Formats: sequence, C-alpha cells, structure tokens
Amino acid sequence: MRVMAEKSKRTVYTEAMEIYHRAAELIGLDPRVRLELEEPDYEHIFYVTVKLRERLVPIPKDDQGKYKDLPESRVTEGLDPLADGRFIIRGKALLNGDVSARDGVIRLPGGLYQLRRAEVKRFKAYRVQHNQARGPYKGGTRYHKDVSLDLFKSLAAEMTWKTAIADIPFGGAKGGIKIDPRHYSKEELERITLRYMYRLKDLVGPTRDIPAPDVGTTPEVMGWMMRQYTDGERERHNLRGVVTGKDVRIGGSEGRVKATGQGLAYCIEEWFADRDDTVKGKSFVLQGFGNVGSNAAEILCAMGGKLLAVNDADGTIFNPAGIDPVKLVTYVYENPGNIKKSVLGFPEAQEVSKKDFWEIPADFAVPAALGGEITGEIAERLKVKMVAEGANGPTTPEADRVLQSRKIDMIPDIIGNAGGVTVSYYEWLQNLRMEHWTEAEVNARLERAIKTNYRIIRDIAQNKPRRTTTHDSRRFCVGRETDPRSAAMVLALKRIEAHYQLEGFSQ
Ligand code: NAD
Repeated sequence: MRVMAEKSKRTVYTEAMEIYHRAAELIGLDPRVRLELEEPDYEHIFYVTVKLRERLVPIPKDDQGKYKDLPESRVTEGLDPLADGRFIIRGKALLNGDVSARDGVIRLPGGLYQLRRAEVKRFKAYRVQHNQARGPYKGGTRYHKDVSLDLFKSLAAEMTWKTAIADIPFGGAKGGIKIDPRHYSKEELERITLRYMYRLKDLVGPTRDIPAPDVGTTPEVMGWMMRQYTDGERERHNLRGVVTGKDVRIGGSEGRVKATGQGLAYCIEEWFADRDDTVKGKSFVLQGFGNVGSNAAEILCAMGGKLLAVNDADGTIFNPAGIDPVKLVTYVYENPGNIKKSVLGFPEAQEVSKKDFWEIPADFAVPAALGGEITGEIAERLKVKMVAEGANGPTTPEADRVLQSRKIDMIPDIIGNAGGVTVSYYEWLQNLRMEHWTEAEVNARLERAIKTNYRIIRDIAQNKPRRTTTHDSRRFCVGRETDPRSAAMVLALKRIEAHYQLEGFSQ
C-alpha cells in the first residue's frame, strides 16, 4: 500500500520526469541506465547566513498618528530603494541630509519610516548535481522566492538532457538560493553570493561543476562567484572556467548575454524554414522580459517579427500595432525610476489582464519566464500556431497533451533554450585556452550547433532517418513518428546511454 501511495504522489519533479519515462520506453533504455538517470547523483541543501544593512521600513497606518508633527527630512543621497518599499540607509544620508527623527522614525516624501537595526538573516541554499556521464556537472544559479529541492531536481535533470542535446561535454546541475533578490541591496547580494560560493567551494570547479546565471542572477553575480572561488589560489587564472556567464571583460564570452534568446531565434527561424517561410511579418506574444525574453524579442524583431504583447511578473502590456523591444529594454533596464524592472507603464502600449494575454491571436507564443505557466486550461485558450519555449518547463504535461490535440506545434525548451549553455561551453573553452573569440565567431558556431541538433530532433519526430551535409539522424530515429518533446528527449537519452554502453559501469 505504501508503495502505491508513494507512486501516486505527483510533484514538480515527477511531472518533469514524465517525458523522460516516455522517451525511455520508446527507445527501450537500458534498465540500469534508467535507474541511474531517474534520480540525481547528489542533492545538496545548506544554509547561508549574512549580516544585512540598516533599513528604513514603512510604519503601519495605525502608528502614524503620533508623528503628525514630525517635519519632512531632506535626503538627497544615501537612500537605496528596494522593491518591497523599504530603503537601505547609508551614512551619506545622515552626513549630507537634513534629517529630523523621533523614536527612529523619519518622514520622507513617500511617508513615515522606522529605522531598523542591521539584522542577521539565514537563507536556504541548494545545488543539485544530476548526472556527469558526459562531462562535468553544469547548470544555472537561481535566486528566487519560490524555489525548492524538487524544483532544482527537475531543473538539474533538464540540464543533463540539454547538454546532451546541444552535444557539449557536460552533465546537468542546478542550484540557487530561496530569496527575492529585489528586496536586497547590491552590496547585500554580494555578501550573500560570497557566502554561497564559500559553502559550494568543495563541490564545484572548472572540471567538477560549473554554475552559470539563471533567474535572478547576472554576470555581476558570476563575477563575485568567480572571485570567491579563485581568491588566494596560486593558479587562479586557470580557474576562470569555474563559472560561465561572466562579463566579457573578465573572461566572459562575446554573445553569452544574448545566447539563449539567440538560440531560440535560430530554432524559430528553422521552424519557419521547414515551412518554406521566414520570421518576417510574423506576430508573437512573449512572457518574461528578462535575459531570455528581451534578447529573443530584439533578435526576432530584427528578423522582421512583430511583438504584440509582453507579460511579466508585474503585469501585461499590449499593442496591436507592435511593441518596439529596443525602446522597451530602455524603459525596463535603463530607467532608474523603474525599480521593479517591469514592462508595466510602458507608454507605447496599453495594459491588459494576464487572462487576456494568453488569448491574443498571434503566429507564435514565447514563454520566457518561469516553469508551469502554460497550464492545460491556458493551452485550451491559446490562439497561436506554435509555442517556442524559452523558459525551462513552461508547459505542464497536461498542457502538452492539449497542445498536441489542438495541433499547436512546439519547440521544446531542451533545444529552444540550449543556446545559453552552448555559449557557456564556448566561454569555458576560451577560459581554458586563454582565448577570446569574436561575437561573429561565437554566433556562427552557435547557429551551426543549434540548427544541426534541431534538424536531428525534427527527423526523429517525423521518423525520417537521413544523412545530409549538415546532420546525421540515422542513429537516433526510433521507427515511428513522435512529438517534438519526446523526439528531443530521445536524442538526449541515446547520447547519454552511449556513454554507459561504451564505457560500462564502475562497480
Ligand atoms: P530573468 O530573471 O532575467 O527574467 C525573468 C522574467 O520573468 C522577468 O521579466 C520577470 O518579470 C518574469 N516573471 C517572473 N515571474 C513571473 C510570473 N509569475 N509571470 C510572468 N512573468 C514572470 O530570467 P531569465 O534568465 O530570462 O530566465 C527566464 C527563463 O529562461 C527561466 O525559466 C530560466 O530557467 C530559463 N533559461 C534561462 C537561461 C539564461 O541564459 N538566462 C538559459 C536557459 C533557460
């Protein structure tokens, strides 16, 4: 009975692994390999403690009466606003301002605030190392409030599939911290990151496990991680490849920032090419305007695509005449007043509800935010011909079934967003060789890699084994047609299985 109960327990991880089991059945994956891949090699959970800065916290309405007569303070510098309505207060604020305080309360133009002492805080942190049959563990670092072991397990497994599909010599991993980074100052995030890497140091390394950015982390965060790992090491320059996604000035690769969006755009271009068509004049809706979404939008619009609507964590904007992604990037990222870094309030579009967003008719949809966003119910309402997954796991298994029954085609995440890790590999190679490639060189390699593997997946899906001048799918087709997501997984599993078959198992 216990076994039955355990079997029926559905989690993010078991859902994510459904496709794995389907493809494993399809190719008759060796039972021992199947067990090896079914659970991660290692699951690390640990804690990071850090001392925060003093904060100004808005005081509750009920307590405001007794400060009616408190004069407004004049503070022109030294206050850093946070997305939760609080401020970090630095010494400059008191030195150069004209501040009146009572019981630690001050009045600012936005209201009354109480000064809070610097707190010490503990954050839960993770690193899941899923598999290393094909090479060192590899995967992003996520700073987000809704993370869990289960989620990191699915994301780490997804990296194992993705590195195999991209045919790069890495395995899969993922990690991060349960935190909303927008509620902390840059200096606090640096301290938190340093402590995270301090704890990780024994587990990672350029030939062991190589973290990269993901939701809520940036090239700057990667720079801090690299510094913490290499600090004091005698051969520290040889260790630059411990993280990828670094700033190009400190060993990052040209083209890495755009790589995931670029890879997705190559897949979309190939999808249209298969239909003797191009992206020019095709409309799309986009969820998520972060690294992946904003870069994909810029590249697709430069190819002639038309961006109709964008949904992010704070709302949705829509313009049937098209949204200019370059202007939107300026509005979101180069506007100091836009603390939440949201598309909301963009003057050249109207606000619509998230419900309406998913019903906007367009040629294709690009989910590039979080997982599980396209549910079965949303899949019923979508008015597009194709979904190109930029995010990891944006479509639930139920939604997958609905999309298939509605004949809405799919570019699955494991090839759709593989551009990021592919250029991470190029970055790692450049670090090892102490080289610096041009963006054109990076993109030429990326285009070849993505399109070659995309074509193999298409051939598996259509059961058309062939060898052309660009690719060879004969080894991978399974003797019958299948959906694109299963086809991508078949490619991953066949490439991983070869390592176990040809190298055997250490006992
Ligand atoms: P990011 O932090 O730069 O941006 C995330 C975006 O998603 C933001 O615009 C945010 O507002 C939006 N968002 C968050 N919660 C939302 C919600 N509930 N509803 C709607 N929008 C929401 O992150 P990113 O690096 O662009 O990553 C986006 C996705 O792509 C993630 O699933 C990530 O795992 C995946 N991915 C990223 C990379 C990469 O190189 N950055 C590579 C592969 C996959």
